[in-house]
Formats: sequence, structure tokens, C-alpha cells
Amino acid sequence: MSKALLCCCEDVTASEVEHAIEKGYRDIESVKRFTGFGTGMCQGKQCLTAVARLLESKAKTKPSQLMPFTPRPPLFPTELSLWASASFDPAVAPGGGVPESIGLTENALKPEAPVPSKAKIVIIGGGILGLSLAWNLAQRGETDIVVLEKGYLCAGASGRNGGGVRMQWGTPTLITLAQRSIELMKRFARDMGINVWFRQGGYLFLAKSEAVVSKLERAAQLHNKHGVPTQILTPDAAREVVPELTMTGVKAAAWNPLDGVIFPWPFLWGYATAAQKKGVKVETFTKVIGFEQSQHRIKKVITDRGDIECETVVLAGGAWSPAIAALAGVDLPNEPHRHEICSTEPLKPFLGPLVSVLDSGLYFSQSMRGEIVGGMGDAREPAGMNLGSTQRFLTRYSQALTEQMPQVGRVKILRQWSGPYDVTPDNSPILGRTPGLPNLIQLSGFVGHGFMMAPAVTERMAAWMATNESDELFERFTLSRFEEGRMEREDMIIG
Ligand SMILES: Cc1cc2nc3c(=O)[nH]c(=O)nc-3n(C[C@H](O)[C@H](O)[C@H](O)COP(=O)(O)OP(=O)(O)OC[C@H]3O[C@@H](n4cnc5c(N)ncnc54)[C@H](O)[C@@H]3O)c2cc1C
Repeated sequence: MSKALLCCCEDVTASEVEHAIEKGYRDIESVKRFTGFGTGMCQGKQCLTAVARLLESKAKTKPSQLMPFTPRPPLFPTELSLWASASFDPAVAPGGGVPESIGLTENALKPEAPVPSKAKIVIIGGGILGLSLAWNLAQRGETDIVVLEKGYLCAGASGRNGGGVRMQWGTPTLITLAQRSIELMKRFARDMGINVWFRQGGYLFLAKSEAVVSKLERAAQLHNKHGVPTQILTPDAAREVVPELTMTGVKAAAWNPLDGVIFPWPFLWGYATAAQKKGVKVETFTKVIGFEQSQHRIKKVITDRGDIECETVVLAGGAWSPAIAALAGVDLPNEPHRHEICSTEPLKPFLGPLVSVLDSGLYFSQSMRGEIVGGMGDAREPAGMNLGSTQRFLTRYSQALTEQMPQVGRVKILRQWSGPYDVTPDNSPILGRTPGLPNLIQLSGFVGHGFMMAPAVTERMAAWMATNESDELFERFTLSRFEEGRMEREDMIIG
């Protein structure tokens, strides 16, 4: 065991990196996420080379595969107040920003061996939806499954989100699904043997307009009907929940102490590892590039590592789903929309709930590592797959955050990134069989809440797939609803 420190910012030792390699993390992005190396003040400037050397010697990762991890702006830790003092033109659309151009390429780590030539079920997308479905199916005894992921695990939205989990929704379906997800999250560490840092600190929604006050009031009545103890608070009462908040412009708040946050990465790995232990094959760095079809069925999934003959295909490609569906001639109405997010240096624990201003889309919470993690939607963000990071976001976010909590003005932002929301016309997911191609099952369109819905939705989907018994969830949320003009609108969306 080597106690030699490789990452001085985050206290990561050589033996911790070796442990990650032993557990199967063989690319630099995954080792970074598993150990935390390179996520501190210096952003890997001091430790990256040493970790790369260990990967080369212990994991036999070739030098050509050892790309540096994606650098995260800002270049230097910079105070929120400084970002807040910058100006931007609110009328101008955000633009590309600093792209994720350097770092891991999909091809660099492609395994040489071909994929299995046959599987009963192929799941496309190794995000939280695909992996939790794989695990739930395996729990029911269905293990002849291959999950295909074009990058490393956590490369998609599931590795880029805020980890917020809430029962405060505007429709009975999402309320009850979230209640079930939270039940499953509470016992996840015990069931799966991995610490997911789940913390029920509550969600505090702030409303700055009468329209949002009415929305929160309506929703609170619905929550209470379903056993969720949401209360509408005056601004003064909301300050008792989070004393550091100014109530500038706030008219009312909604508070549910049972909501919470979870650390996305171990949650995803927990499902992946447990599924693999049951026999599911998870093929990373493997891209789906086409389908072979006959008689209205998919016969084979074509990948850049060979073809897989299968009975059923599940499309869980998140915001990439429309592009993948198009390869099968299926038109999905989802659109990817970039959402930016950032993290500060760690502080002592002081902030219990996740706080969100529903009017502007600002949200922030304190992670179990002490960082303030937060983001803010941007109505001007055009549709499109863009994983760049902008200064406009840091300025808008810092202005909104320091208005609500001026004490954090001296706190430094360490890193920013972005991920794709997978947006449908009614903000509800697309689930169930594809009209005209019944062995293609849809599991996408989760907008900004797929992480918290995954445990409950995929538990039900696995039961539905394994038993063939009908479940209204997979009839109500089918793709055909858009053609039928039947919207399932959800409007408690942040950002
Ligand atoms: C900034 C941000 C904050 C968010 N905050 C929250 C939150 O607080 N709470 C919450 O519940 N949700 C949140 N979300 C939403 C949540 O992250 C997503 O809804 C969820 O992760 C979607 O999971 P998924 O499995 O559908 O997609 P993904 O995690 O995106 O997985 C899809 C995978 O498919 C892979 N793929 C794509 N094309 C191919 C191909 N051709 N072949 C093989 N694989 C392919 C991708 O690499 C990707 O890994 C947030 C999202 C963002 C961007």
C-alpha cells in the first residue's frame, strides 16, 4: 500500500488510484471520478501526469489512450462576486462557449474484442436509465442483457447533474414515482454496498411572482393529498429554514423536508456493478451506428465493435435518443438543450436544503464534500447538442446566487461544466413500445429529472417487460401520444 500523495488538493494517494484500477476503472475520466483526483483547487495540474503513469504501468493503458481529462473552466478559482460584477447582454443567445474538445475520445479506448454476437435484450445508453433498467431486469432473473455505452460511464447527463431528488411535482404520477425513488435511494447503500451520500435536507422553492406562488400553492395541495408534507411558507418563515437567504423579491416559498440530494456518480456505478455481478454485460466505448430490421422488427443492433442479434432493444440514450432513433427510421420529438452547472470550493456544512428560485431557474445545494453545486436555466439557450461552458452562465448564476445569499460572494468557483436536458414537448418522458416497431422500447425524454425518476420508472419497466402484464405508465406515456395530440404536461420544471 503506497500512502504517497498524488493529489494534494483532495488527498488522493497512489494506493487509492491503484484500488480504482483494480476495480476496473481504466480510463482517466473514470479514475478521476472514482478517486476525486484533479477535482480540487489545482484542477489536476499537479497530479494528472502521476496518475497517467500509474494507469500505464498498472492498467496497461496505452500512452495513446491516456488523454488528459477534460479541462474545466474557469482557469483559476475565481470569487462569485467577481463573476457577478461582469456584464453580459441578456438579449444575446449564449453561443458555444469553451467546448469539451480536449480529453477522452470515444475511439481511443475502444476494446479490440468484438461485442457478444447475441443477446436477448440490448439496452442502448449506459446512463442511469439504461443501467438501472438492466439491474432491475437482472433482479427478476433476466441476465442475457448487453448495455452499450459510447463513452465512459457517467459521460452523459447522468454524470453531469445536480443530484436533486424531490417529491414536489405538479402531477400525481411524478409525485408518486419520486416517493418510490426516494424509498429506494434510502436503502441503496445497504442494498448495493456503495455509499451514495444521500441526504434528505429538503427542497425550498422560492416564488417571486404571483403566477409562481399560485403554482406552488396548487402543487402543495396535490402533494398533501399524496402524503407529501409540503408547506407554503411566508418569506420570514422560509428564512428560518435557511437563515443565510435574503428574501429579495420573494413572495412565498414551498418547503418539503423529505426531498434531498444524492451523489450521481456512485449511484450510477452502484447499478452498473450490481448488474454486472448478476451477469449483465456493460460494454463501454461502444457506439451504436445502425440497426438491421425486417418485418417491422429490429433483428440486429449494429455497433462499431460488431453486430448483436437480439429480441428486444431498449433506447435509453438520453438526449442522444432522437439521433439513435433516426438510425431505425423513428422520429422522436425530444430536443437536447444544454444546461450549465458549477461547483465552488468546499465550505463547512451550513446549507441543509436545495434552494431553487422557480421564476429564474436558479438552484443550489451543498454537497456532502461541502461544495456549493448549482445551476440556472437560460431561456435563450437554443436547442442542440452542445456541451460547452460559457462565461455568460457564470455571470448570470453568480448574480442570482449572490442576490439570494450575499455571504457566499467571497467563495470561489472551482469548475463548471454542462450537460444536455432531454426535452419533450410536454416535459414528460417517452416510454413503452414504438408504433410500427414494437420490439424497440422507448425510455427517454426525462428533461431535467431523469436521475430521480430512474429507480422507480425502471423498477416498473422491468416488471412490465418481464411479466407482459399491462401497466398504464407505458400506455399513457407512449410516443404515439404526440400524434394523437394527447399531452401529459408537467410544469414544475427548474430552468
Ligand atoms: C446540468 C443538469 C442538471 C440536472 N439536475 C438533475 C437533478 O438535480 N435531478 C435529476 O433527477 N435530474 C437532473 N438532471 C437530469 C438527469 O441528469 C437526466 O434526466 C438523466 O441523467 C438522464 O439519464 P439517461 O440515462 O436518460 O441519459 P444519459 O445519462 O445522458 O445517458 C445516455 C447515454 O447514452 C450514451 N449514448 C449516446 N449515443 C450513443 C450511441 N450511439 N451508442 C451508445 N451509447 C450512446 C451517452 O454517452 C450517454 O452516456 C440534470 C441534467 C443536467 C444536464
